[in-house]
Amino acid sequence: MIRIWRRIRNLGGVFGVAVIAAVVVAAAGECGVRRSAPAPMILVSLDGFGWDLLDKAPTPALDRLAARGVRAEKLVPIFPTKTFPNHYTIVTGLYAEHHGIVANNMYDPVMNARFSLGNREAVADGRWWGGEPIWVTAEQQGLRAAPLFWPGSEAEIEGVRPSFWQAYDGSIPNAELVKQVLGWLDLPAGERPSFITLYFSDVDGAAHRSGPESEATKRAIQAVDNAVALLIAGLRDRGMVDDVNVVVLSDHGMAATSSDRVIFIDDYIDLSTVDVIDWNPVLALRPEAGEEQTVYAALADAHPHLNVYRKQDIPERFHFRDHVRIQPIVGVADEGWSVSSRPFVRARPDRHQGGNHGYDNLAPSMGALFIAAGPAFRDGEVVPPLQNIHLYEMFCAILDLDPAPNDGSLDSVRVLLR
Ligand code: AMP
Ligand code: ZN
Ligand code: ZN
Repeated sequence: MIRIWRRIRNLGGVFGVAVIAAVVVAAAGECGVRRSAPAPMILVSLDGFGWDLLDKAPTPALDRLAARGVRAEKLVPIFPTKTFPNHYTIVTGLYAEHHGIVANNMYDPVMNARFSLGNREAVADGRWWGGEPIWVTAEQQGLRAAPLFWPGSEAEIEGVRPSFWQAYDGSIPNAELVKQVLGWLDLPAGERPSFITLYFSDVDGAAHRSGPESEATKRAIQAVDNAVALLIAGLRDRGMVDDVNVVVLSDHGMAATSSDRVIFIDDYIDLSTVDVIDWNPVLALRPEAGEEQTVYAALADAHPHLNVYRKQDIPERFHFRDHVRIQPIVGVADEGWSVSSRPFVRARPDRHQGGNHGYDNLAPSMGALFIAAGPAFRDGEVVPPLQNIHLYEMFCAILDLDPAPNDGSLDSVRVLLR
Protein backbone atom coordinates (compact mmCIF):
# COMPACT_ATOMS: atom_id res chain seq x y z
CA MET A 1 0.00 0.00 0.00
CA ILE A 2 2.69 2.46 1.01
CA ARG A 3 4.37 1.98 -2.34
CA ILE A 4 1.11 2.81 -4.08
CA TRP A 5 0.48 5.93 -2.01
CA ARG A 6 3.99 7.13 -2.70
CA ARG A 7 3.35 6.70 -6.39
CA ILE A 8 0.15 8.74 -6.14
CA ARG A 9 1.93 11.41 -4.10
CA ASN A 10 4.65 11.62 -6.73
CA LEU A 11 2.22 11.85 -9.62
CA GLY A 12 0.13 14.71 -8.18
CA GLY A 13 -2.25 16.94 -10.18
CA VAL A 14 -5.09 15.91 -12.42
CA PHE A 15 -3.22 12.92 -13.77
CA GLY A 16 -2.72 11.69 -10.21
CA VAL A 17 -6.43 11.95 -9.51
CA ALA A 18 -7.20 10.18 -12.77
CA VAL A 19 -5.16 7.13 -11.88
CA ILE A 20 -6.39 6.84 -8.29
CA ALA A 21 -9.38 4.64 -9.13
CA ALA A 22 -7.25 2.15 -11.01
CA VAL A 23 -4.58 2.23 -8.33
CA VAL A 24 -7.05 1.59 -5.50
CA VAL A 25 -8.22 -1.55 -7.27
CA ALA A 26 -4.62 -2.68 -7.69
CA ALA A 27 -3.85 -1.84 -4.04
CA ALA A 28 -6.49 -4.24 -2.81
CA GLY A 29 -4.49 -6.99 -4.46
CA GLU A 30 -1.08 -5.77 -3.39
CA CYS A 31 -1.34 -5.83 0.41
CA GLY A 32 0.56 -8.80 1.79
CA VAL A 33 1.08 -10.27 -1.66
CA ARG A 34 4.62 -11.30 -2.57
CA ARG A 35 5.70 -10.39 -6.08
CA SER A 36 8.13 -12.25 -8.31
CA ALA A 37 11.57 -11.58 -6.92
CA PRO A 38 14.40 -9.75 -8.70
CA ALA A 39 18.02 -11.03 -8.67
CA PRO A 40 19.03 -11.36 -5.01
CA MET A 41 21.37 -8.74 -3.57
CA ILE A 42 23.95 -9.59 -0.93
CA LEU A 43 25.42 -6.63 0.95
CA VAL A 44 28.62 -7.47 2.82
CA SER A 45 30.14 -5.10 5.38
CA LEU A 46 33.82 -5.39 6.27
CA ASP A 47 33.84 -3.15 9.34
CA GLY A 48 36.76 -0.70 9.43
CA PHE A 49 38.22 -1.78 6.06
CA GLY A 50 39.78 1.47 4.82
CA TRP A 51 39.91 2.32 1.11
CA ASP A 52 43.71 1.97 1.27
CA LEU A 53 43.82 -1.58 2.69
CA LEU A 54 43.52 -3.60 -0.53
CA ASP A 55 47.24 -3.14 -1.10
CA LYS A 56 48.32 -4.04 2.44
CA ALA A 57 47.77 -7.80 2.22
CA PRO A 58 46.84 -10.36 -0.45
CA THR A 59 43.10 -10.05 -1.21
CA PRO A 60 42.48 -12.43 -4.13
CA ALA A 61 38.70 -12.70 -3.62
CA LEU A 62 38.15 -8.94 -3.40
CA ASP A 63 40.46 -8.37 -6.37
CA ARG A 64 38.55 -10.88 -8.49
CA LEU A 65 35.24 -9.33 -7.47
CA ALA A 66 36.50 -5.87 -8.45
CA ALA A 67 37.83 -7.22 -11.77
CA ARG A 68 34.45 -8.55 -12.82
CA GLY A 69 32.57 -5.61 -11.28
CA VAL A 70 33.02 -2.02 -10.29
CA ARG A 71 35.11 -0.47 -7.53
CA ALA A 72 34.95 3.07 -6.22
CA GLU A 73 38.26 4.70 -5.46
CA LYS A 74 36.74 5.29 -2.03
CA LEU A 75 33.38 5.36 -0.31
CA VAL A 76 32.94 8.59 1.64
CA PRO A 77 31.26 7.95 5.00
CA ILE A 78 28.97 10.34 6.89
CA PHE A 79 29.97 12.15 10.05
CA PRO A 80 30.53 10.78 12.64
CA THR A 81 32.62 8.02 11.07
CA LYS A 82 31.37 5.43 13.55
CA THR A 83 29.92 1.98 12.99
CA PHE A 84 26.25 2.35 13.83
CA PRO A 85 25.70 5.79 12.25
CA ASN A 86 27.29 4.71 8.96
CA HIS A 87 25.73 1.26 8.72
CA TYR A 88 22.33 2.83 9.25
CA THR A 89 23.02 5.54 6.67
CA ILE A 90 23.95 2.89 4.09
CA VAL A 91 20.53 1.24 4.47
CA THR A 92 18.40 4.41 4.82
CA GLY A 93 20.13 7.03 2.64
CA LEU A 94 19.87 9.50 5.53
CA TYR A 95 22.42 11.61 7.36
CA ALA A 96 22.74 10.81 11.07
CA GLU A 97 20.76 13.95 11.98
CA HIS A 98 17.84 12.53 10.00
CA HIS A 99 17.96 8.84 10.99
CA GLY A 100 18.75 9.52 14.64
CA ILE A 101 21.65 7.08 15.15
CA VAL A 102 23.98 10.01 15.79
CA ALA A 103 26.63 7.97 17.63
CA ASN A 104 27.35 4.52 19.04
CA ASN A 105 26.61 5.97 22.49
CA MET A 106 23.63 8.31 22.79
CA TYR A 107 21.28 10.04 25.19
CA ASP A 108 17.79 11.07 24.10
CA PRO A 109 16.37 13.83 26.33
CA VAL A 110 12.78 13.25 25.14
CA MET A 111 12.85 9.50 25.79
CA ASN A 112 15.16 10.14 28.76
CA ALA A 113 17.05 7.02 27.70
CA ARG A 114 20.54 5.94 26.78
CA PHE A 115 21.75 3.86 23.86
CA SER A 116 24.95 1.91 23.34
CA LEU A 117 25.97 -0.90 20.96
CA GLY A 118 26.12 -3.48 23.72
CA ASN A 119 22.75 -2.55 25.25
CA ARG A 120 20.49 -5.27 23.86
CA GLU A 121 17.31 -3.63 25.03
CA ALA A 122 18.13 -0.29 23.37
CA VAL A 123 19.40 -1.86 20.15
CA ALA A 124 16.11 -3.78 19.80
CA ASP A 125 13.94 -0.71 20.57
CA GLY A 126 12.50 0.67 17.32
CA ARG A 127 12.15 4.17 18.80
CA TRP A 128 15.88 4.70 18.30
CA TRP A 129 15.83 3.84 14.61
CA GLY A 130 14.41 6.65 12.46
CA GLY A 131 13.88 6.68 8.70
CA GLU A 132 13.15 3.55 6.72
CA PRO A 133 15.82 0.89 6.25
CA ILE A 134 15.83 -0.96 2.93
CA TRP A 135 14.62 -4.20 4.54
CA VAL A 136 11.43 -2.41 5.63
CA THR A 137 11.02 -0.88 2.14
CA ALA A 138 11.49 -4.37 0.67
CA GLU A 139 9.09 -6.19 3.03
CA GLN A 140 6.42 -3.52 2.52
CA GLN A 141 6.70 -3.91 -1.22
CA GLY A 142 6.42 -7.68 -1.38
CA LEU A 143 10.05 -8.85 -1.09
CA ARG A 144 11.68 -10.78 1.74
CA ALA A 145 14.76 -9.44 3.49
CA ALA A 146 17.45 -11.04 5.67
CA PRO A 147 19.65 -8.32 7.21
CA LEU A 148 21.93 -10.61 9.20
CA PHE A 149 23.70 -8.63 11.97
CA TRP A 150 23.11 -5.25 10.32
CA PRO A 151 22.70 -2.46 12.90
CA GLY A 152 18.96 -1.86 13.28
CA SER A 153 17.94 -5.33 12.12
CA GLU A 154 16.98 -6.42 15.65
CA ALA A 155 14.28 -3.75 15.99
CA GLU A 156 10.75 -3.48 14.72
CA ILE A 157 10.73 -0.34 12.54
CA GLU A 158 7.50 1.19 11.17
CA GLY A 159 5.83 -1.90 12.62
CA VAL A 160 7.85 -4.16 10.30
CA ARG A 161 10.41 -6.85 11.00
CA PRO A 162 12.51 -8.46 8.27
CA SER A 163 11.54 -12.05 7.36
CA PHE A 164 14.92 -13.26 8.70
CA TRP A 165 17.16 -11.73 11.38
CA GLN A 166 19.21 -12.79 14.39
CA ALA A 167 20.40 -11.18 17.62
CA TYR A 168 24.00 -9.99 17.15
CA ASP A 169 26.61 -12.51 18.29
CA GLY A 170 30.18 -11.51 17.53
CA SER A 171 31.49 -14.96 18.46
CA ILE A 172 29.93 -16.78 15.47
CA PRO A 173 32.71 -17.65 12.97
CA ASN A 174 32.56 -15.92 9.59
CA ALA A 175 32.23 -19.27 7.79
CA GLU A 176 29.04 -20.03 9.78
CA LEU A 177 27.54 -16.69 8.76
CA VAL A 178 28.32 -17.40 5.11
CA LYS A 179 26.68 -20.84 5.48
CA GLN A 180 23.59 -19.20 6.92
CA VAL A 181 23.34 -16.84 3.94
CA LEU A 182 23.84 -19.64 1.40
CA GLY A 183 21.10 -21.56 3.20
CA TRP A 184 18.72 -18.65 2.62
CA LEU A 185 19.61 -18.68 -1.07
CA ASP A 186 18.70 -22.38 -1.19
CA LEU A 187 15.12 -21.67 -0.10
CA PRO A 188 12.37 -22.11 -2.69
CA ALA A 189 11.63 -19.05 -4.83
CA GLY A 190 8.64 -17.87 -2.77
CA GLU A 191 10.58 -17.90 0.52
CA ARG A 192 14.04 -16.81 -0.57
CA PRO A 193 15.07 -13.33 0.58
CA SER A 194 15.96 -10.79 -2.11
CA PHE A 195 18.04 -8.58 0.18
CA ILE A 196 20.62 -10.24 2.41
CA THR A 197 23.46 -8.83 4.50
CA LEU A 198 26.66 -10.14 6.04
CA TYR A 199 28.90 -8.43 8.57
CA PHE A 200 32.53 -9.21 9.43
CA SER A 201 34.23 -7.27 12.25
CA ASP A 202 37.79 -8.71 12.04
CA VAL A 203 39.51 -5.69 10.49
CA ASP A 204 37.88 -3.16 12.82
CA GLY A 205 38.84 -5.22 15.87
CA ALA A 206 42.46 -5.78 14.84
CA ALA A 207 43.02 -2.20 13.68
CA HIS A 208 41.63 -0.78 16.96
CA ARG A 209 43.85 -3.03 19.05
CA SER A 210 47.05 -2.95 16.99
CA GLY A 211 46.73 -0.09 14.51
CA PRO A 212 45.84 -0.06 10.80
CA GLU A 213 49.43 -0.83 9.71
CA SER A 214 49.94 -3.81 12.04
CA GLU A 215 50.53 -7.47 11.18
CA ALA A 216 47.31 -8.29 13.05
CA THR A 217 45.37 -6.02 10.68
CA LYS A 218 47.00 -7.72 7.68
CA ARG A 219 45.86 -11.11 9.03
CA ALA A 220 42.35 -9.70 9.52
CA ILE A 221 42.30 -8.39 5.94
CA GLN A 222 43.09 -11.93 4.77
CA ALA A 223 40.45 -13.41 7.08
CA VAL A 224 37.66 -11.25 5.64
CA ASP A 225 38.92 -11.85 2.11
CA ASN A 226 38.64 -15.60 2.86
CA ALA A 227 35.06 -15.08 4.02
CA VAL A 228 34.22 -13.29 0.76
CA ALA A 229 35.92 -16.16 -1.13
CA LEU A 230 33.67 -18.67 0.69
CA LEU A 231 30.59 -16.70 -0.24
CA ILE A 232 31.55 -16.46 -3.91
CA ALA A 233 32.49 -20.15 -4.03
CA GLY A 234 29.07 -20.97 -2.57
CA LEU A 235 27.38 -18.90 -5.27
CA ARG A 236 29.49 -20.61 -7.94
CA ASP A 237 28.59 -24.08 -6.61
CA ARG A 238 24.95 -23.14 -7.00
CA GLY A 239 25.43 -21.76 -10.51
CA MET A 240 24.29 -18.38 -9.18
CA VAL A 241 27.42 -16.30 -9.41
CA ASP A 242 26.27 -14.31 -12.45
CA ASP A 243 22.72 -13.91 -11.17
CA VAL A 244 23.35 -12.36 -7.77
CA ASN A 245 24.40 -8.78 -7.08
CA VAL A 246 27.16 -8.72 -4.49
CA VAL A 247 28.20 -5.45 -2.84
CA VAL A 248 31.18 -5.48 -0.51
CA LEU A 249 31.79 -2.26 1.37
CA SER A 250 32.87 -0.83 4.68
CA ASP A 251 31.50 1.77 7.07
CA HIS A 252 34.71 3.81 7.55
CA GLY A 253 38.49 3.49 7.60
CA MET A 254 40.90 3.70 10.53
CA ALA A 255 43.50 6.20 11.75
CA ALA A 256 46.54 5.23 13.81
CA THR A 257 46.33 6.61 17.35
CA SER A 258 49.09 7.03 19.93
CA SER A 259 49.49 7.46 23.68
CA ASP A 260 51.38 10.63 22.69
CA ARG A 261 48.27 12.14 21.07
CA VAL A 262 45.72 12.24 23.90
CA ILE A 263 43.57 15.23 24.89
CA PHE A 264 42.70 15.14 28.60
CA ILE A 265 39.50 17.11 29.02
CA ASP A 266 39.68 17.05 32.81
CA ASP A 267 42.67 19.39 32.43
CA TYR A 268 40.17 22.07 31.29
CA ILE A 269 36.75 21.36 32.78
CA ASP A 270 35.29 19.97 35.99
CA LEU A 271 33.80 16.63 34.96
CA SER A 272 31.27 16.83 37.81
CA THR A 273 29.48 19.67 35.98
CA VAL A 274 28.82 17.78 32.75
CA ASP A 275 27.34 14.52 31.60
CA VAL A 276 29.79 13.04 29.07
CA ILE A 277 27.47 11.18 26.68
CA ASP A 278 30.25 10.08 24.34
CA TRP A 279 34.03 10.46 24.56
CA ASN A 280 36.17 9.55 21.68
CA PRO A 281 37.02 10.92 19.17
CA VAL A 282 33.71 12.83 19.09
CA LEU A 283 33.03 14.33 22.49
CA ALA A 284 29.34 14.84 23.29
CA LEU A 285 28.74 16.97 26.37
CA ARG A 286 25.57 17.74 28.24
CA PRO A 287 26.43 20.41 30.81
CA GLU A 288 24.34 20.88 33.95
CA ALA A 289 21.73 23.65 33.76
CA GLY A 290 23.44 27.04 33.66
CA GLU A 291 26.91 25.55 33.00
CA GLU A 292 26.82 25.51 29.20
CA GLN A 293 28.61 28.80 28.58
CA THR A 294 31.27 28.08 31.21
CA VAL A 295 31.99 24.63 29.80
CA TYR A 296 32.11 25.92 26.23
CA ALA A 297 34.43 28.82 27.12
CA ALA A 298 36.78 26.50 29.01
CA LEU A 299 37.08 24.03 26.13
CA ALA A 300 36.77 26.18 23.02
CA ASP A 301 40.44 27.08 22.63
CA ALA A 302 41.82 24.62 25.14
CA HIS A 303 43.66 22.18 22.88
CA PRO A 304 44.93 22.76 19.33
CA HIS A 305 43.73 19.29 18.22
CA LEU A 306 40.22 19.47 19.66
CA ASN A 307 37.63 21.41 17.63
CA VAL A 308 34.81 22.41 19.96
CA TYR A 309 31.40 23.58 18.74
CA ARG A 310 28.12 24.67 20.21
CA LYS A 311 25.46 22.53 18.56
CA GLN A 312 24.18 25.36 16.35
CA ASP A 313 27.71 26.12 15.09
CA ILE A 314 28.71 22.61 14.00
CA PRO A 315 30.03 22.90 10.41
CA GLU A 316 27.22 22.50 7.91
CA ARG A 317 29.07 19.92 5.85
CA PHE A 318 28.83 17.48 8.78
CA HIS A 319 25.00 17.50 8.48
CA PHE A 320 25.02 17.12 12.23
CA ARG A 321 22.78 19.62 14.02
CA ASP A 322 19.16 18.75 13.56
CA HIS A 323 18.44 16.10 16.20
CA VAL A 324 17.67 16.10 19.93
CA ARG A 325 20.29 13.38 20.42
CA ILE A 326 23.06 15.74 19.27
CA GLN A 327 24.27 17.28 22.53
CA PRO A 328 24.70 21.04 23.23
CA ILE A 329 28.52 20.88 23.03
CA VAL A 330 30.36 18.70 20.54
CA GLY A 331 34.14 18.27 20.30
CA VAL A 332 35.86 16.62 17.33
CA ALA A 333 39.46 15.47 17.74
CA ASP A 334 41.84 15.79 14.80
CA GLU A 335 42.62 12.61 12.85
CA GLY A 336 44.74 10.27 15.00
CA TRP A 337 44.06 12.08 18.30
CA SER A 338 42.15 10.64 21.24
CA VAL A 339 39.90 12.27 23.84
CA SER A 340 40.17 10.92 27.36
CA SER A 341 40.63 11.75 31.04
CA ARG A 342 43.63 11.40 33.39
CA PRO A 343 42.09 8.68 35.63
CA PHE A 344 41.02 6.62 32.60
CA VAL A 345 44.52 6.62 31.11
CA ARG A 346 46.16 5.93 34.49
CA ALA A 347 44.06 2.77 34.69
CA ARG A 348 44.64 1.78 31.03
CA PRO A 349 47.92 3.33 29.87
CA ASP A 350 47.94 1.64 26.43
CA ARG A 351 44.29 2.15 25.60
CA HIS A 352 44.93 4.92 23.06
CA GLN A 353 47.73 3.08 21.27
CA GLY A 354 46.28 1.44 18.16
CA GLY A 355 43.63 2.83 15.87
CA ASN A 356 40.34 4.69 15.90
CA HIS A 357 37.66 6.25 13.71
CA GLY A 358 34.82 8.69 14.21
CA TYR A 359 36.78 11.69 12.89
CA ASP A 360 35.88 14.23 10.18
CA ASN A 361 34.34 12.21 7.35
CA LEU A 362 36.64 13.91 4.82
CA ALA A 363 39.81 12.90 6.72
CA PRO A 364 41.77 10.71 4.26
CA SER A 365 42.05 7.80 6.70
CA MET A 366 38.26 7.62 7.14
CA GLY A 367 37.59 6.68 3.50
CA ALA A 368 35.84 3.32 3.12
CA LEU A 369 35.76 0.42 0.64
CA PHE A 370 33.23 -0.14 -2.15
CA ILE A 371 33.22 -3.05 -4.61
CA ALA A 372 30.16 -4.41 -6.44
CA ALA A 373 29.63 -7.12 -9.04
CA GLY A 374 26.64 -8.80 -10.63
CA PRO A 375 24.03 -8.26 -13.32
CA ALA A 376 23.23 -4.69 -12.17
CA PHE A 377 26.81 -3.42 -12.18
CA ARG A 378 29.31 -2.33 -14.78
CA ASP A 379 32.38 -4.49 -15.09
CA GLY A 380 36.05 -3.78 -14.88
CA GLU A 381 35.70 -0.13 -13.89
CA VAL A 382 37.10 2.02 -11.12
CA VAL A 383 34.99 5.11 -10.46
CA PRO A 384 35.80 8.29 -8.50
CA PRO A 385 34.90 8.59 -4.79
CA LEU A 386 31.20 8.31 -3.97
CA GLN A 387 29.20 9.07 -0.84
CA ASN A 388 27.46 6.32 1.10
CA ILE A 389 24.21 8.36 1.46
CA HIS A 390 23.38 7.50 -2.16
CA LEU A 391 23.48 3.73 -1.77
CA TYR A 392 19.91 3.31 -0.46
CA GLU A 393 18.59 4.86 -3.69
CA MET A 394 20.81 2.50 -5.66
CA PHE A 395 19.69 -0.62 -3.76
CA CYS A 396 16.05 0.41 -4.29
CA ALA A 397 16.62 0.92 -8.02
CA ILE A 398 18.28 -2.48 -8.39
CA LEU A 399 15.52 -4.24 -6.44
CA ASP A 400 12.81 -2.25 -8.24
CA LEU A 401 11.55 -0.69 -4.99
CA ASP A 402 10.09 2.78 -4.51
CA PRO A 403 12.50 4.46 -2.08
CA ALA A 404 11.30 6.26 1.04
CA PRO A 405 12.28 9.97 1.25
CA ASN A 406 16.04 10.21 1.82
CA ASP A 407 19.13 12.43 1.49
CA GLY A 408 20.67 10.61 -1.48
CA SER A 409 20.16 10.65 -5.22
CA LEU A 410 20.27 7.90 -7.81
CA ASP A 411 22.02 10.22 -10.25
CA SER A 412 25.08 10.22 -8.02
CA VAL A 413 25.54 6.47 -8.35
CA ARG A 414 24.36 5.78 -11.91
CA VAL A 415 28.01 5.57 -12.93
CA LEU A 416 28.14 2.19 -11.14
CA LEU A 417 25.19 0.71 -12.97
CA ARG A 418 24.93 -1.11 -16.22
P1 AMP B 1 32.98 0.73 16.85
O1 AMP B 1 34.35 0.30 16.49
O2 AMP B 1 32.87 1.16 18.26
O3 AMP B 1 32.41 1.74 15.93
O4 AMP B 1 32.04 -0.57 16.77
C1 AMP B 1 32.43 -1.78 16.18
C2 AMP B 1 31.99 -2.92 17.01
O5 AMP B 1 30.56 -2.93 17.12
C3 AMP B 1 32.30 -4.28 16.42
O6 AMP B 1 33.55 -4.73 16.83
C4 AMP B 1 31.20 -5.17 16.93
O7 AMP B 1 31.62 -5.92 18.04
C5 AMP B 1 30.11 -4.25 17.36
N1 AMP B 1 28.91 -4.46 16.58
C6 AMP B 1 28.80 -4.46 15.24
N2 AMP B 1 27.56 -4.69 14.83
C7 AMP B 1 26.82 -4.84 15.94
C8 AMP B 1 25.44 -5.10 16.17
N3 AMP B 1 24.57 -5.26 15.15
N4 AMP B 1 25.03 -5.16 17.45
C9 AMP B 1 25.90 -4.99 18.46
N5 AMP B 1 27.20 -4.76 18.31
C10 AMP B 1 27.67 -4.68 17.06
ZN1 ZN C 1 32.83 0.29 12.08
ZN1 ZN D 1 35.58 0.47 15.20
